[in-house]
Amino acid sequence: MKYQSTRSLHTASDTEAVLQGIAPDGGLYIDPSIGAWPFDWKGCLEKDSFGMAEQILSALLPGFDDMRGLVEKAYRGKFDTDELTPLVSAGGLHYLELYHGPTSAFKDVALSMLPQLVTAAKKQIKDPTKTLILTATSGDTGKAALEGFHDVEGTKIVVFYPDGGVSPVQRAQMVSQKGANVSVCAVRGNFDDCQRGVKEAFAAIREQKLTEGRGVELSSANSINIGRLAPQVTYYFIAYAKLVKEGCISVGDAVDYCVPTGNFGDILAGYYAKLLGLPVGKLICASNSNNVLTDFLKTGVYDARRPFYRTTSPSMDILVSSNLERLLYLAYNGDTKAVAECMKDLSENGSYKVSDDALAYIQNSFKAGCAGEDEVSRTIEKVWKEDHYLIDPHTAVAVKVAAEYKTDAPVVVLSTASPYKFPAAVLGAIGGDLSGTEFDQMRRLSEVTGTAIPKNLAALDSAEELHKDIINREEILDYVISRFE
Ligand SMILES: *Cc1c(COP(=O)(O)O)cnc(C)c1O
Repeated sequence: MKYQSTRSLHTASDTEAVLQGIAPDGGLYIDPSIGAWPFDWKGCLEKDSFGMAEQILSALLPGFDDMRGLVEKAYRGKFDTDELTPLVSAGGLHYLELYHGPTSAFKDVALSMLPQLVTAAKKQIKDPTKTLILTATSGDTGKAALEGFHDVEGTKIVVFYPDGGVSPVQRAQMVSQKGANVSVCAVRGNFDDCQRGVKEAFAAIREQKLTEGRGVELSSANSINIGRLAPQVTYYFIAYAKLVKEGCISVGDAVDYCVPTGNFGDILAGYYAKLLGLPVGKLICASNSNNVLTDFLKTGVYDARRPFYRTTSPSMDILVSSNLERLLYLAYNGDTKAVAECMKDLSENGSYKVSDDALAYIQNSFKAGCAGEDEVSRTIEKVWKEDHYLIDPHTAVAVKVAAEYKTDAPVVVLSTASPYKFPAAVLGAIGGDLSGTEFDQMRRLSEVTGTAIPKNLAALDSAEELHKDIINREEILDYVISRFE
């Protein structure tokens, strides 16, 4: 058994871990010996992006047959470059552009791969049921999941979003989604209502065994699934290989990575790259005003009892970063009791404190900082005016924090979204006129900067609205059941 829960000695094979997402005890699946087995990281750096993905995913998920075929299906022709994630240098920083996929945000890298892993896992264990993916979204995840799962054989996907609670661009992206196996539905209320409704539906279906005999099984596209984490490791290698190729570094030199962080998945993938041998220097965790991780990484106290701020980097507006649990497991050297204790404190009291040894382990690789809204806006303006490079608010948080930790090592900033996904914040920051709709702002941003609107976003303004359902939270369960057939 390759995988184990972070909270107990419960184990699962890698295919089971992908299909279950979360362990039955509420823990996250982790390979207890990650970092202890050999990995040819130097050989990996010599491959192209697809080859790197194949090698890394085969090592992390060895139970899957034909990983190359799955990688091809996930990525070939789906990204606007076969490099997948280009590295662009500007103003002394190296920007790893993770947003060249179908929805112009970094979640595409993982959510293109996950459906392939889910369907392959089902085939391998000869499970004939369909997988029904159920997701509540505050914006970005829903569309990336729809793009990943639409028309994938053996799957269906239902996405719920808060009515009036997502940006016009995000809504247009979702309601125009094509595919015979997709449903998109607005829920009256805010994101928390929507998410609670989906969790309740999940629980009711499990408890009452409502899927039995219906030929379908529920799953989620949540970022705690190991099938979402593993694909993200690849681009840390892609960036490093590019720096070698450009003569910036020699193989073996340390490179720091600065990551705009929410649920701690993206930055944890960087730590996995380090465990596989890649010479990762510091991993710099960048937060917005919701800076619970900054405090944790500096003090060892995780305290979620604090005000929640809505910011211009909404995908980082998170107070409970689920993927941190995997780092705790590693920091506690596999002591699942200690991890379970922390998680219990968090759910009962809203906070926990790690041991001095665990904190020292974490601080050996991680640094942290945060940026307020004014700083984000000024950073977008500065990078545009001085370096003539356009960044989105999430990336700007990372740029601001990277400056605090600049050493002699090159810094790669993970650029997680296209600036065109957040036209108001970006146009406002560079002093543009904000009148009109978000689509007007997009066009103006393009005119003012001479940069191109990504094709998928440009096409949205005139896209047909295919999904018009609006329901109350109490109706979510019936809605899901109606999608079983
Ligand atoms: C999801 C997201 C993040 C945060 O990534 P995590 O893996 O949750 O830490 C940052 N930026 C953008 C644009 C995102 O969509």
